[in-house]
Amino acid sequence: MARVLDGKWVRDEIQRECNPRVEALTAARRPPGLAVVLVGNNPASEIYVRNKVKACEELGIYSEQHTPPEAISTDELLALIDSLNGREEIDGILVQMPLPKQVDSRRILLAIRPDKDVDGFHPMNVGNLVANIPAPRSCTPAGIIELLKRYDIPIAGRHAVIVGRSDIVGKPMALMLLHESATVTICHSKTRDLPGECRRADILVAAIGRPAFVTREFIQPGATVIDVGINRLTDPAESAAIFGEHPARKVIGDVHPIHVMESAGAYTPVPGGVGPLTIAMLMANTVRAAEAHIT
Ligand code: NAP
Repeated sequence: MARVLDGKWVRDEIQRECNPRVEALTAARRPPGLAVVLVGNNPASEIYVRNKVKACEELGIYSEQHTPPEAISTDELLALIDSLNGREEIDGILVQMPLPKQVDSRRILLAIRPDKDVDGFHPMNVGNLVANIPAPRSCTPAGIIELLKRYDIPIAGRHAVIVGRSDIVGKPMALMLLHESATVTICHSKTRDLPGECRRADILVAAIGRPAFVTREFIQPGATVIDVGINRLTDPAESAAIFGEHPARKVIGDVHPIHVMESAGAYTPVPGGVGPLTIAMLMANTVRAAEAHIT
């Protein structure tokens, strides 16, 4: 039976390590500060933002929410970013994606001061990642590296295969694994023989956005499987086909939840695997930004 890699445990460890650093900053001058910008009323985004604000409260990080209306223009949002860039007590700025269609997301990302870009999405920080220069790193893949290290899963010399090439998960994940000296393969929708490529993986990362897409034929027996996907199952027939006799869940990853238990050596469950790491790394990025600003 495969080992379960518990993202909540890793999250708690990361946040516990942040505690004394937040206390030291608060005693020295002020708590770290995070501004979260949530445009409109996307229910999924509202939940993500609520969880981020809650994590700040638990850690003693100052946070504030800005909730401009759905109809905001690019220039109005740029003005808000500009004011947050200029405020001394704000160390991190997070603009929750996706933004409404009329807003030029690229211009918004470019406007955030790179030292306040706690999501690690600014092209300057992407460049820093490519060059392996310390700077804010994209939270989800950075959290996955933390999880692999804290579970003593060897990375150097291992073959890592990533399915998905998004700017926020797949690409930065590939670079971070490369910096840890893995041999890296990136797969996507045009990859030929995807199951065959995946079966060569010692570490398989699925960041696709398709429920239970990675089945047993993708998994080398004993591999470490990291499931980034968060999908909601709404069709009872699909749910029954995936879970069979096993208790069904509504939220499911990109990896088949039963096959992975049977074939992998270790895996992250959904929920409770990668999800908790993302917020923990956002907190860590905010604390690091505050240390750079204050000390
Ligand atoms: P995305 O931007 O939609 O990218 C999906 C990637 O999967 C693309 O590169 C796409 O290839 C590839 N893909 C799609 N269908 C494929 C197929 N049939 N075969 C091979 N590759 C395929 O998604 P994302 O933002 O990276 O997110 C991926 C998943 O992770 C989503 O479920 C999302 O909700 C979840 N997520 C979770 C967290 C967390 O904190 N746990 C954070 C971020 C995202 P092409 O480029 O060729 O189209």
